[in-house]
Amino acid sequence: MTETQFDFQANIRKALANRQLRSNLSFAMGSMTAKRKAIFSDAAAFEALRAQGNAIRRRALLQLPELLERLEKKCIENGMSVHWAETTDEANRIVLGILRDHHARRLVKGKSMVSEEMHLNRFLADHGVESLETDLGEFIIQLDGETPSHIIVPAIHKNKQEIARTFHEKIPNTPYTEAVEELNAIARKTLRRKFYEGEVGLSGVNMAVAETGTLCLVENEGNGRMCTTVPPVHIAVMGLEKVVEKLSDVPPLLRLLTGSATGQLITTYVNMISGPRKPDEKDGPREIHLILLDNGRSRILSDEQLRQTLQCIRCGTCLNHCPVYTRIGGHAYGFIYPGPIGEILTPQMEGLDKAGGIPTASTLCNACEEVCPVKIPIPDLIRRLRNESYDPNGSVPGHGFKRTFAEAAVWKAWALVNRHRGLNALVTKMAPVLSPILPRLGPLEAWTRGRIRPRFSQKSLHERVREKGIKDA
Ligand code: SF4
Repeated sequence: MTETQFDFQANIRKALANRQLRSNLSFAMGSMTAKRKAIFSDAAAFEALRAQGNAIRRRALLQLPELLERLEKKCIENGMSVHWAETTDEANRIVLGILRDHHARRLVKGKSMVSEEMHLNRFLADHGVESLETDLGEFIIQLDGETPSHIIVPAIHKNKQEIARTFHEKIPNTPYTEAVEELNAIARKTLRRKFYEGEVGLSGVNMAVAETGTLCLVENEGNGRMCTTVPPVHIAVMGLEKVVEKLSDVPPLLRLLTGSATGQLITTYVNMISGPRKPDEKDGPREIHLILLDNGRSRILSDEQLRQTLQCIRCGTCLNHCPVYTRIGGHAYGFIYPGPIGEILTPQMEGLDKAGGIPTASTLCNACEEVCPVKIPIPDLIRRLRNESYDPNGSVPGHGFKRTFAEAAVWKAWALVNRHRGLNALVTKMAPVLSPILPRLGPLEAWTRGRIRPRFSQKSLHERVREKGIKDA
């Protein structure tokens, strides 16, 4: 185990031993993949839409600095404030500054993976601000003191009995019930009052349109709309890759996002936020602040191959189809973004030395690439990151961390053997003699635990060919 911050293999063993978790995941994933399949049943139409989505995202990334400047200008013209944050710490401090400017101690939050990336709730709690998650899944995991285990359905690892227990134990005066409607009603009743008490609302952003300065936010529960309209101040946090060029880019991406994420043609709420409340309007926030977070994204953007990571629209479908994620769930990955997208995004953000083990959690079966609505070549990027883990001349932060003296010596020996004919012949002769004991020695022993030991032939290919009377060229 080479990770410095967490023991990935121990996490995996623990997850695999948890039968309840595996059964919850298998049930949920089956239903999500079936819904997606039904909505994209016309393969040719889906391929055309994917190509369109891919082109929109690539075009946006190719002109990202310019689009961000246009977005900033338009948002300011529309009456919003725009803030730039290079790091998550900077973004947290901007949020805190806005809260302090309004003497606010209560924040109501819609679902936002960027805020998870910032560990915002913990930061605010340390500074005396109560931050309440209002998305149902996020609300459940906040009660349990957990992080999301999926980027779209954060509490997917729990079944209704577990949720019933959480509500009963963590919400005062709540009777135990497993009836889904009653559980929903309990959450609604608990949260409704909080929307009015929240002094500031915070949300993520699914897409921001540079042409019009519009923030687009999709959701199904209405809590996002409450967070962005009821409190007098709205803060929107977004990774800077989420910008698109034109308003006409939104519908195809929206179709791909909602179809891939939840198997819906369109979500119940599509919020298009284009400015704070106008003098003659009766509701809406008086102030809107947009925070654009970099957190390593501009570095990712500068590499032509790795840039494709930023095409992601966070639909989560690669997780649902991944044979590894669907068996271990999101918490085992130990970082905010799990599954295939996490395998390529996390090591680039956190550094390979901290998260370099994560790209190994893939069978390279290509399922993630096949389903990705914006055609990110995830397996190619996983291979690149795996290689960079050993490459002292790589470009991803933390590159080369897995390269050890023994590793370098083995490759040098391999090169030597393959450059010298006599040596090669000798090793070929020795291989069948030594092979019964070799994989049981030292670090090779771990390799044979889950694999069948290779058996070398007694005769080399050259010998067999020669026996047939064919002479060496
Ligand atoms: S990588 Fe593709 S499939 Fe995975 S979350 Fe991003 S857009 Fe969706």
